[in-house]
Amino acid sequence: MRIDRLKPIFFLTVCTLFLTASPARAKATWKAGTAKAVITPTEKMWLAGFANRTNPATGSKLMDLWVKAMALEDASGHRAVILTADLLGIPQSVYQHVSAAIEKKYALQPDQILLCASHTHCGPVLRDALYDIYPLDQTQRDLIEKYTTQLESQMIDVAGAAIANLEPVRITAGQGTTAFAVNRRNNPEPKVSDLIETGELKGPVDHSVPVLAVYSPDGKLKSVLFGYACHNTTLQLSEWSGDYAGFAQIALEKNHPGTQAMFFMGCGGDQNPLPRHEVYISQRYGHMLASAVEEVLLAPPHNLPPELVTKMKMVTLPFGKPLTVDELQTLKNDSQAPTRRWATRWLDFLQSGKTTVRDYPFPIQAWQFGGQQLLLTLGGEPVVDYANKFKQSFGPQTWVAGYCNDVMTYIPSLRVLREDAVTKPGARWGYEGSYCFVVYGLPAKRWGENVEDLITGGAKELVGEIQK
Ligand SMILES: [Zn+2]
Repeated sequence: MRIDRLKPIFFLTVCTLFLTASPARAKATWKAGTAKAVITPTEKMWLAGFANRTNPATGSKLMDLWVKAMALEDASGHRAVILTADLLGIPQSVYQHVSAAIEKKYALQPDQILLCASHTHCGPVLRDALYDIYPLDQTQRDLIEKYTTQLESQMIDVAGAAIANLEPVRITAGQGTTAFAVNRRNNPEPKVSDLIETGELKGPVDHSVPVLAVYSPDGKLKSVLFGYACHNTTLQLSEWSGDYAGFAQIALEKNHPGTQAMFFMGCGGDQNPLPRHEVYISQRYGHMLASAVEEVLLAPPHNLPPELVTKMKMVTLPFGKPLTVDELQTLKNDSQAPTRRWATRWLDFLQSGKTTVRDYPFPIQAWQFGGQQLLLTLGGEPVVDYANKFKQSFGPQTWVAGYCNDVMTYIPSLRVLREDAVTKPGARWGYEGSYCFVVYGLPAKRWGENVEDLITGGAKELVGEIQK
């Protein structure tokens, strides 16, 4: 009797095994692999972000910092790898070293490699980034170089480990929403609580929460990639922390044991999590974001067919007017220490007879999942206008990530660039369109006026290639 009752189960199991093992079925599926590594610094390095910091890290941590990788392969064997990291940004040299190594070791082209930084302001300063805003001595510079070199190795290794454990999966896409991002240019921070209460917040925002969920054959959530367009600046601690994005990843990994949660920044260059500056607020924003992801995971799944298209383009963006010796000589005596350090460095450079570069190679990527879900990625810190514009141009199934591959400075729209041409009293203007060049140490004071046109043109070209 007992054997009879087991018979149908045995039969079904055999059938299932047979179907799963059949080559035709095995081919028509996505594959995904994941891997991660802790990248929390062990030395008391300077933390990146917030120019008014006066001391390096204490050495303690609110949570670990991570680099996480997700490798993908579609039914035709086309692969890609996404790396997300709890870091302020990816400097150009890190991107170049890591993508070249991944290309050499794992045969992926640059269009198949995506590096995303969460923009936490409680991570370490990296090589050649933000050197002018902190008083870095040689010991600190040596620590930065050592850490950055090790970080590059870890990034390459996790990419390889994720590729090595590719297994059949099901992938779904969806989009949730949460509203803690506030346009920081239009809403003075001290007034934000009142403005929220009276419903008078101003300025463009993007409150969408894109979610790419990856399920193992047994139906378990293997990994979830999610995004949000908001500065990861709830906290200004001297302790290592992934801020709200770190709390969101922890919450999702706790809710789904064994899952790897990965965060990417949207076009949050002009968006702040407000109010802020308390650990419990950062944690609450993390939980709000995780809840938005959970809502998507609970909704009927939107399965994506196993087709992946990856395109990439480097667009040359011109800087604005070149720096002059006269203006640098004035700025060398500026009241702000970062400006003094920046002006002194470039003045020495010009006076040694060298000429500064006049433009910058800017990375744009377009990926399409399942013939429908578009992911556009931009370098730098793009303002929210880019996300809103691209969604309008390319349709509702468009996600736009910023802080990808090379974070060289802010990326203003023409609107923001023009607003920042003049400083208006009482407004938080002048940063995203101008002063950020000093913060990032670039040899100019702003982008050329055609920056938005060039980026839009590059994105349209890539999407056009995908859709033809
Ligand atoms: Zn920023």
